[in-house]
Order: sequence, then C-alpha cells, then structure tokens
Amino acid sequence: MAKRPTLTAADRAVEYSPTTARLFGFCQKKFYFTWLARRKQGWRKGLDHPWHRVYDLKQLKNRHTWAGDLYHEILAHILNDVCAGHEPDEDAARRLISDVAEAQFAFSAEHRFIGATKSHVEKYNGIPTFLALFEHAYGLPVDGLLEETRLNVDQWLMHTFSWEGWLPLIDHVQSARRVYIEPDNLLYLFAGARIRARMDVGVETRDGLFVLYDWKCYNEDKRFAAYDQHLFKQQLLAYALWPVSREELRLAIDRVVAHVFNPVTGEEREIHFTENDCADFEIDVDRWVRLQREMFTEVGDVVFDELRGPYDPQRSCPWCSFKAVCGEEILWHELT
Ligand code: SF4
Repeated sequence: MAKRPTLTAADRAVEYSPTTARLFGFCQKKFYFTWLARRKQGWRKGLDHPWHRVYDLKQLKNRHTWAGDLYHEILAHILNDVCAGHEPDEDAARRLISDVAEAQFAFSAEHRFIGATKSHVEKYNGIPTFLALFEHAYGLPVDGLLEETRLNVDQWLMHTFSWEGWLPLIDHVQSARRVYIEPDNLLYLFAGARIRARMDVGVETRDGLFVLYDWKCYNEDKRFAAYDQHLFKQQLLAYALWPVSREELRLAIDRVVAHVFNPVTGEEREIHFTENDCADFEIDVDRWVRLQREMFTEVGDVVFDELRGPYDPQRSCPWCSFKAVCGEEILWHELT
C-alpha cells in the first residue's frame, strides 16, 4: 500500500484541475455553481434550498457524457478484474454494459437521483446505477436515447478489444509493479495548488516507467482543435506530474508516457512530456491560484452578477445543467 501524501499544506491550497479550469474559461457562473456545490455541501439542506438544487443539478449528464462515463466504468471494471487475475471477456463485458445502461436509465427516469448520494446508491455487478440525465431532469423527450447509448458503447467496446494496443495494455497490467485505476487518493502540491491525479489508468512498470492510459470518447471540434489539444495535454500532464512530484520513488518527466485511445475512431496517440511543458504548466497553475484567491474566497464575498457568462448565452444556456437556478433571482451571497 503506497503511503498517502501528507496534506497539511495541501488541504489549505487552492484546488486545480484542468477540467474545472476549462469550465471557468467557458462560463464563470457555471464554475461558481460547481464550486458552491462542493463548498456548501448542498445535500445537507432541504430539497428546495438553492444549494441543494445546485447540488442535484451538478450531477446531470447529457447523453454523450453518459455514454463516455459508461465506457470508462466498464473499462475500469475489466481492468480491475485483470488485476484480480482474470482474463478479459468481451462478450461478458458487452452484456454487462447493456444491463448497466438499462439499470442507470431506469434510475434516472424515476428521478431517484433527487436527494440521492451517488456513493450510497446500489451497484450492478460493482458498477453504480446512479444516473441523472439532463433530459429527465428538464422533462425533455428521451425517445431512442437508451438504445442509441447502448449501441455507441457496444461499438466502442468492440473497437477497444480489436485495438492493437489492447493486448500490450493487458500485458502491462499483468506484469506491473503497481496499477492505478481511476485512483482517488493521488494528490500532490504544485505551484501552490493541490492537484488530484485521477487518471483513467496508470501503470508503474518494473523497469521504472510510468505509463498513463486515457480514454477519449469524443472527436475534437475542428474550430478549437489547437486550443483543445493544449488543454488536453495539460490534463495528461496534471496526471504525469504525480510520479514526478510524489514523496517517494520520484521519476523524471521523460520516464512518463501517455497513450490516448479514442474508442469512437479506434485511433491511438502517444504523448511525451518535456521540462518546458512542465514550466509552462507551472505558470498556468500559478496564475490560476492567484485568480482563485482573489475571486473565490468565501461564498458571501462572491458577487454572482459580476461573473462572466458564456460567449454566446443563446446557444449555451439552454443546454446548461444549471439553467434552472441561474435563471432565478437568488441572492446567493445572502443565503445561509
Ligand atoms: S445558464 Fe448560462 S450563464 Fe448560467 S451557468 Fe449556465 S451557461 Fe453560465
């Protein structure tokens, strides 16, 4: 068992994650709700309290993120099985994902997500049945949504089992010194921020390499390809810096390599990192920490109306999970 990092200083540090940094860049109000949901523990309030509603809405997913999450869940399930000494079974995995999709869809359709805590909800063969679909929460049509999602994930699984990197990955996992599958406890301090390295898979090989695997279940929007690739590389770097920054057995950054597999297209990309990448990332994280300390101190200090919204509210707001609370006149800073 690896020693947990000492977090005395880290506990007080601003949290950085490339995903939330991206969210902040998209809409500061949306970021505010996400921050609030964690900060105020809305689940402790009554169901109608705005903080509780923010907490419930934060869990909503659209069909595409649901399909991506299902894929991640089944891959984690298969690889945990491999760690336990079993061989991967494609047919069993495809049957399981179909059953889980059905159980999750029923959970969402019955609105069981309202007031529920994800970690307390029952599992199906080890996979949580919790799901809160945007369409169910906002009363939109769901025709064909379950079938389409099942079909997508089924095809992605077939692409994965026929991917030429699949057997090397299984070999890696079976012979590794240590394997991390969606770990929750890999934390480190970097440029004054606390970073959680929640990688899809991390394999520590016996010859001193750290191999990251990441599943990317979407295609890039060509208009933002360069920007997206920059952010995506930063996301991987946030994971790659954990073995470089941890307390023990530190590695040089050139001993870390990332394999990104896209199950939609069946394509794989290999990514390496340099000291320059790390230096650029350090500047970005430092900037983030200073900005957050200025803008997001205490809930009562944040002036909601002064936060920037998305570039085009007409297009973005109708599909935003928080549109119900964002569109209401609520004096957020006065709530208790
Ligand atoms: S509804 Fe629009 S302005 Fe409000 S949080 Fe969502 S995207 Fe931002």
